[in-house]
Parts: sequence; C-alpha cells; structure tokens
Amino acid sequence: MADKISALKETGINTRLAHSGNNPSDFHGFVNPPVVHASTVLFPNARTMESRAQKYTYGTRGTPTTDALCEAINELEGAAGTILVPSGLAAVTVPFLTYLSAGDHALVVDSVYFPTRHFCDTMLKRLGVTVEYYDPMIGAAIESLIRPNTRLVHTEAPGSNTFEMQDIRAIAAAAHRHGCVVTMDNTWATPVYFRPLDHGVDVSIHAATKYPSGHSDVLFGTVSANVAHWPALTEAMVTLGVCASPDDSYQILRGLRTMGIRLERHQASALAIAGWLESRDEVARVLHPALPSFPGHDLWKRDFGGASGIFSFVLKADSPEKFRTKAHAFLDALSLFGLGYSWGGFESLAVHVNLSDRKVAKAPSEGPVIRLQIGLEDVPDLRRDIEAGFAAANAV
Ligand SMILES: *Cc1c(COP(=O)(O)O)cnc(C)c1O
Repeated sequence: MADKISALKETGINTRLAHSGNNPSDFHGFVNPPVVHASTVLFPNARTMESRAQKYTYGTRGTPTTDALCEAINELEGAAGTILVPSGLAAVTVPFLTYLSAGDHALVVDSVYFPTRHFCDTMLKRLGVTVEYYDPMIGAAIESLIRPNTRLVHTEAPGSNTFEMQDIRAIAAAAHRHGCVVTMDNTWATPVYFRPLDHGVDVSIHAATKYPSGHSDVLFGTVSANVAHWPALTEAMVTLGVCASPDDSYQILRGLRTMGIRLERHQASALAIAGWLESRDEVARVLHPALPSFPGHDLWKRDFGGASGIFSFVLKADSPEKFRTKAHAFLDALSLFGLGYSWGGFESLAVHVNLSDRKVAKAPSEGPVIRLQIGLEDVPDLRRDIEAGFAAANAV
C-alpha cells in the first residue's frame, strides 16, 4: 500500500480529519492507534538509558497515542508542534506561563473567556505581570498600547459571549514590530474554519473540550506553536509537568474524525436559528459574526471559512430591573435546550451571560444577553422550544 501520510498533502479538510495522525501500518493495520497507559518506559541497556536515545522515555513526555493526536493537530493547525493539556483553560495558562516573566506587560482582549481574565488578575498579577485589557475592535491601533516591556498580545475571536471579531492580521503585524508573542484562543472557529498561524499568530490555543470532543464528556486543551515559539512551549510543558491522559487523547482524536461534518450541521442550524431570531419582536439584536447585520461581519467574511454553532442574542426588556427576571423566565421555559456551561457537544444549551467583568467592551443596554449553543437536533424542534421561552419572557 502507498504511503498514507504523503497522500494527504493538498487534500480537503474532511479527508485530512479522517486520515491525519496515525498510520495504521505502524500498528499491525488497526485503523486506530492503541491507547497506551504509561508512566515507565523500559530501556534495553544502561547506555541507552543514560543517553535517553530512544523515542519514548517516560509517560509525561509522550506516547504513541498522544503522538497520533499531536500529529493530527499539527497538520490541521499548520504548526511546528503541539502540546496536549488537561483542559481548555490550561491551554491558555501554560503558554502565558511560558512566555511571560515578572516585570512584563501583556495585552489581553477585553472580550476574553472569563477564566482567562481570572488567571491574569490573580496568578499572573501575583507573579509580577501587568495585564491590560484592550478593545476587541482596536485593530492596528493596538500599537499605541504597546510598551517597552510588552511581551505578549492575547487575542480571541470571536470574543466569548458577545462574539466581537478582531483584525488578527493587523494586530499580529503591530505586535511583531515590537517583538511580542501573539497568542490566539481559536476555540470558536476550530482550525477547520480559521488557521491562526496562517494569519500571523504564533501560538494557537484550542479548548478541545468543545468541538473536537463533541459529546460533552471530555475536558482537553491543545496548544500549537510555530517554529520560533515551539521550543519554549515544549520545554514549559515538561517543566510544569502538565500532560493529558491517554484515554482522553484517544477520544479527542476519535472526535476529530467527524468534527468537519458535525461543524457543518452546527453551522447551518445555528445560522437558521440566528436569522429567524432577527425577525422576532422579542429580540433586540443577534450577536453572530456570520450575520451581515453584525458589526464585525466583514472581518469574519475576509478571514474565516465558516461559523460554528454558538452565538448570543439580546432579549428585549423595557427596563434594566427586568433583565434578570425576563432571562430566567425564558431559560426556565426551555425543555430541549439544557441550562449548562461549555458547548460543542451534540445537545443544545442556553445560558444567561454575565458581562459584569468587561472594562471596555460593555454589555448591551437593550436587555439580557442569552447565549445559545445549537446542537445536532432538528431546527423546527429547537425553534418551538425557543418560542416557549419567548412566551414565558413576554408574560413577565
Ligand atoms: C470553554 C473555553 C475554554 C476552556 O475550556 P475548558 O476545557 O472548559 O477549560 C477556553 N477558551 C474558550 C474560548 C472557551 O470557550
């Protein structure tokens, strides 16, 4: 049989998702790699042990299972190397600890995932790093915020909960003029719809808990770096002792095989519902980058190959006192949508978003923000569920 890995060059995304990572001929022809449970790895003799001149040396430093996943992610991200970590949040904190030192200044987008902000405001602060939050729409003007000690610029697009788009290329170009590392939390788009390293980002972060897992049952993170930033990242992983479990690594590789087709369905259903919501009297605004009405739509269209299944809408409320009661009435009337955090799984979810942490990108004033994760259910059923929510909210 011809070599599979070289045959994958120049193929479509679903072909690569189906075949990247492991070569079945390495494992007696079995289609999937083995799940290797390991701490100790044995050496054939003392000299090999002393020189560590063998491919695998200890469980924390990789196994055939984690290698298969790392190779698949490298291929998808176009990365020099990928580390696997036990959660999406660790996929943010490990690179921050890798590239930042006491006395440094970091610029972090204000629409950032809240636990990232919490890490910055507590642990990074204690370690002597100053963090400043910037407007997601800042673009090339970020250059005016860069100080002599600015070392890292963190981006996330679209932003968490409010989905602001960022001009990643312009931000990366400005940051690089001053020698900063550019990181991006790309969880929303996945490398299927946006490849950060192709747009000037140095380090691409993914909460694989979301779409790669796809079933709300695995916590996982991946961090992928370009050639210049890979050595420090892999060194930090070994130094910190963070690594991912073999069973979870296997599940994430398994999830990648169907991620492309799942995303197509999430995208189509979410857009159908977002468009329908725009026509509803109960809705003030829909926050979805693929809608032409959305302020960052042009950037999304320029840079992204698609949209995933999570967005928000602003539920109209005539006075701020009613925001909470209306939001709760809407949520409590839902039966197919679960009330729960996280997303990317097969089932739809809804949450009343808290935006009180924002410093620059303020919360909408027209009403409460409801975030919807659109799962793989049938759209008419989801619409009926949302209609029940509107009826309850209208009765407030
Ligand atoms: C969920 C999420 C994370 C964290 O992932 P966990 O696995 O839940 O820790 C990080 N970034 C973004 C944008 C997320 O949505």
